[in-house]
Amino acid sequence: MRIKSVEARWVQIPIAQEQQHVSDFGRLRTFDAAILRIETEDGLVGWGEGKNAAGSAGQYAALVHLLNAEFGPRLIGQDAAAITPIWERLYNGVRHQGAAARGHTMPELARRGLSVAAISAIDIALWDLRGKALGEPVWSLLGGRSAERLPAYASGGWADAGAIGDQLKSYVDAGGFGAVKMRVGSMDGAPHASADRVRAARAALGPGIDLMVDAHGTYTVADAKRFAAMVADCDLAWFEEPVTADDRAGLIEFRAATHIPVALGESEATRFDFADLAARRAADVLQPDPAFCGGITETMRIGTIASAFNLRLAPHLWAGAPAFFAGLHVIAAAPAGAIVEFSLGANPMIHDLSRAPVRVTDGTIAVPDAPGLGLEIDEDIIARYTKR
Ligand SMILES: [Mg+2]
Repeated sequence: MRIKSVEARWVQIPIAQEQQHVSDFGRLRTFDAAILRIETEDGLVGWGEGKNAAGSAGQYAALVHLLNAEFGPRLIGQDAAAITPIWERLYNGVRHQGAAARGHTMPELARRGLSVAAISAIDIALWDLRGKALGEPVWSLLGGRSAERLPAYASGGWADAGAIGDQLKSYVDAGGFGAVKMRVGSMDGAPHASADRVRAARAALGPGIDLMVDAHGTYTVADAKRFAAMVADCDLAWFEEPVTADDRAGLIEFRAATHIPVALGESEATRFDFADLAARRAADVLQPDPAFCGGITETMRIGTIASAFNLRLAPHLWAGAPAFFAGLHVIAAAPAGAIVEFSLGANPMIHDLSRAPVRVTDGTIAVPDAPGLGLEIDEDIIARYTKR
């Protein structure tokens, strides 16, 4: 199963005006992703996705060029089943043979960011290919699944204090969700404004629905503490990215000071970053993004770290279809796999790209049974919305 071609595209699908939302990332007018197509000499096609923006409105010209001009050519003629050796070869660069011989990492200087995002796209596509070649879903290759359906939470919640209750209740009604996540932080101005919105949300939802908040890393440690104190009686299930990932000491300080579980990781990459977060007690929930942290291979390894440190794994899945499906397989297969993030903002990169509907019912989502990712991509959508 030799690799014949590697082609990445910057896919940019517009979002209708009435479906757009505004957060600290601005108004999301499009959904963007680097979508990767790998084809083997025997005609199998695998799909991957790489990401370099926390939200969905990023620039993907550089990542696509990295995949097409640098990493892609290195893959031609390689055995598509050699998923881990390819991961290590791309990560370690010219020293990969020395790294393999010694059994430890010797990465290239640019070992994070675009490099790992590109490896992520390739890794996801190779798992898709491996599953298709063997006629098995990815979760089966990862060791089996814990359940046929996984719990999901509704991810959204941008409305103001007067409307947030109805917005979140509409999510619960739409998919039977037992858990919802709302945005807080700098988009509201002062911490008390976010706290007002959270109290309104809790009052509307009642005590039976898990409520999470996500500050996108926009608080200082001091403001995160002020906010946490103001919502102490709201029984929050987690507080996501209270402080920027660049302030790891601040995150550790915040977690030690609060009773609210802390969720982290969509801004982190590789098992090495997550091992440090776990060992330093920075988080209760690890949230690697399969399209940014290193693909399915690395998300599984991060899941092992979560299990070993008695943490939960809840991948960041504000993503396109390849990364979202990758997340489903990992959550199903990883012992620490906890819950699926299901975007309630407009997400054409999942719903237009996948030929089959992707739905949550009774708060759960099916783990795909078809070979590989179990994802049938609409290539016409990719052709129509490729940004040149
Ligand atoms: Mg988040």
